[in-house]
Amino acid sequence: MTFTVLTIFPELIDSFLDTGMIRKALEKELISCSSVNIRDFAEGKHKVTDDRPYGGGCGMVMKPEPLAKAIRSAKEASSSSKTILLTPQGTPFNQKRAHHLSTYDGLILVCGRYEGVDERICHELVDEEISIGDFVLTGGELAAMVIIDAVVRLIPGVLGGALSASQDSFEDQLLEYPHYTRPYSFEGQDVPEVLISGDHARIDRWRLEASLKRTFLRRPELLSEKKMTRPEIDILKKWCIEIGKIIQAQS
Ligand code: SAM
Repeated sequence: MTFTVLTIFPELIDSFLDTGMIRKALEKELISCSSVNIRDFAEGKHKVTDDRPYGGGCGMVMKPEPLAKAIRSAKEASSSSKTILLTPQGTPFNQKRAHHLSTYDGLILVCGRYEGVDERICHELVDEEISIGDFVLTGGELAAMVIIDAVVRLIPGVLGGALSASQDSFEDQLLEYPHYTRPYSFEGQDVPEVLISGDHARIDRWRLEASLKRTFLRRPELLSEKKMTRPEIDILKKWCIEIGKIIQAQS
């Protein structure tokens, strides 16, 4: 899969590409990723990429011509890629979206700055607008890195043989169960006994219940959209019986 990030600060992306899982994926040639400086497509001695907004008001707007040239050049180099504009006004990004994006041959990620990009860029040149959350960043580079990171770890081979994204939070509408490692006792808190029992069936059941409990308490809306398995329904029924007993004891 190919990632092309269009930005006026390519150095931000370059340091990200040189670190951790992304660097390993690049070394293994599971992905290719490059940053393109939008300024290289700007005209004139000063290579200006922004201008004052029509209608007045504060801030600057990214000019359409250098952006259009940069996007067209990236599309030429990677014709089957999907072009995404990062914007707080876009479709909210989530794990489902990450899975969907991981099916493309490539992504061209367009990073805005200042007040954003000239609106006319969005119509013909961009396939989709994506937001990474209901807050406003200074630029699209962090958003591009968030998307690359979330998508790359879903590409087969990136997380390595034993590791898999399939148990992670938001896969199958659940938050993941809690994790523990050595030491057994830490500041008066012990690891749950079941995890040192060696009984893998019990451990799996404990993890599923912990995952359901955590999701119910923190993100109940995920459960209402979830298609439950038989063991999950059994756990919920057990809770209902226990809660019923507590209520009965009060009456
Ligand atoms: N004036 C714009 C607005 O109110 O919608 C915000 C512009 S923001 C300061 C500059 C750039 O940062 C945007 O063009 C976009 O590329 C990026 N950006 C900011 N917040 C973002 C978010 N939540 N998701 C994705 N990109 C974001």
